[in-house]
Amino acid sequence: MECSGNFYLHNFKFIKSDHFDDSFLKNGISIYEVIRIENGVPLFLENHLNRLYKSSEISNFSINESYCDFETLTGELITKNNILRGKIKIIVQFNTVNGDKEKNLLIYFTPHYFPTSEECKKGVKTGFCKAIRLNPQVKILNSEARIRANDTIAEKKLFEVILQDNDGFITEGSRSNVFFIKDDELITPPESDVLQGITRLNIIRLCKSENIKLKEKKIHISEISEMDSAFLSGTSLKILPVNNIDSFEFYTQNQVLQKISGLYNKSIEDYINERST
Ligand code: PLP
Repeated sequence: MECSGNFYLHNFKFIKSDHFDDSFLKNGISIYEVIRIENGVPLFLENHLNRLYKSSEISNFSINESYCDFETLTGELITKNNILRGKIKIIVQFNTVNGDKEKNLLIYFTPHYFPTSEECKKGVKTGFCKAIRLNPQVKILNSEARIRANDTIAEKKLFEVILQDNDGFITEGSRSNVFFIKDDELITPPESDVLQGITRLNIIRLCKSENIKLKEKKIHISEISEMDSAFLSGTSLKILPVNNIDSFEFYTQNQVLQKISGLYNKSIEDYINERST
């Protein structure tokens, strides 16, 4: 089931979720965002909207601040469904019907999986997957990389796959960014090669303000055995230790990892408090 809650929004109108229909997304191009809701607050909404506008610009479709008031719409959806914790998906579809260009907007709660405390402590199992996201900075539905990643995840019974390009460089997870830790430094693939994750953005901001060493550089698969620890970052995952990537094992109780995870959780608390008062 893709849509949860009692109501969803289609082109600014509330519709009962029993009638949810997203079959039209098969056509055209759909860009999307997934936003975490905690205490009824959409976390880092402005960052998500900026990325949505950027995705549309790169894809040569224009939506910007004047398109609609996303903040009000998501607020109304939360109130109408009375759901304080979960995930909201915003999809903007650009389509051509009988030669006319049209836009469709869907906003709805979607079932979420937030990692268990056991997964956060012990880390998760991942594996490599050769797949390239052609336009890494655009968050687009139904990409080829998504399909390949889903197959590998199911086949090897993994939590997530780590994407690897044709030259053996690691880019990101299929729905997450990846960070490694060597000594006391965080290392992550460069911005140009990955989706600019909102969680990644916040981790980089926190590293700057807290003087945690961080380097953005290309990481080759041959360097993986030198890394002490690894973690994934994402809206649902937050900061999630990686136990292994295929046969490479990582230490999940790393102090730098625990520090950045604590700082990130605190930044969420602060964000909620600022908007709840
Ligand atoms: N990279 C890819 C390919 C993703 O699909 C996602 C999230 O869906 C991320 C990274 C993490 O982004 P965020 O932190 O905004 O959830």
